Amino acid sequence: MRFRRLKLAGFKSFVDPTELRIEPGLTGIVGPNGCGKSNLLEALRWVMGESSAKSMRGGGMEDVIFAGTATRPARGFAEVQLAAELDGDAVAGPIGVSEDGELEVVRRIERGAGSAYRVNGRDVRAKDVALIFADAATGAHSPALVSQGRIGAVIAAKPAERRAMLEEAAGIAGLHVRRRDAEQK
Ligand code: ATP
Ligand code: MG
Repeated sequence: MRFRRLKLAGFKSFVDPTELRIEPGLTGIVGPNGCGKSNLLEALRWVMGESSAKSMRGGGMEDVIFAGTATRPARGFAEVQLAAELDGDAVAGPIGVSEDGELEVVRRIERGAGSAYRVNGRDVRAKDVALIFADAATGAHSPALVSQGRIGAVIAAKPAERRAMLEEAAGIAGLHVRRRDAEQK
């Protein structure tokens, strides 16, 4: 899976619609302190299904919504869209991809209404989105996404935790999600 575009609106400091094109190869995000570099990475994790407000540096999930400034009012919703290209033989679970092999995931949160997800225009559950990215080994908790201050935690992880990280990196985390699902039925 390769990310192509990330679009944000009302998300943290990105109040106005913002589109980031992710070209093949290495992408660097540079800018002064507080300009929103970490917020961009958080938007990426969030659209992939992040469910911990704490790991989004917030007290509650609604804290990702633009909170307003002295000159601009707060927003009522936040939306992040991620477009990705799937590898030739990959399938987006039961959802499928568009004809050009593009997967488009949208997550939106409204004050008082929680999060809703769409994949290629269809309403889906958070679990469906988690499975797509777990299978693609790029999940919200993938060790491939290491946020500021977390490098030490990866190094200091207990063996079981590190095994979970490696399993996610290897793309087999999706199998465990499905097994737990099957055991509950
Ligand atoms: P550094 O270089 O220090 O790591 P950074 O570029 O990673 O900085 P971020 O942490 O991404 O910066 O952005 C911080 C900014 O985002 C702060 O100005 C903060 O006020 C703003 N911010 C965070 N959440 C919200 C929100 N819900 N509404 C409005 N602004 C927000
Ligand atoms: Mg930062």
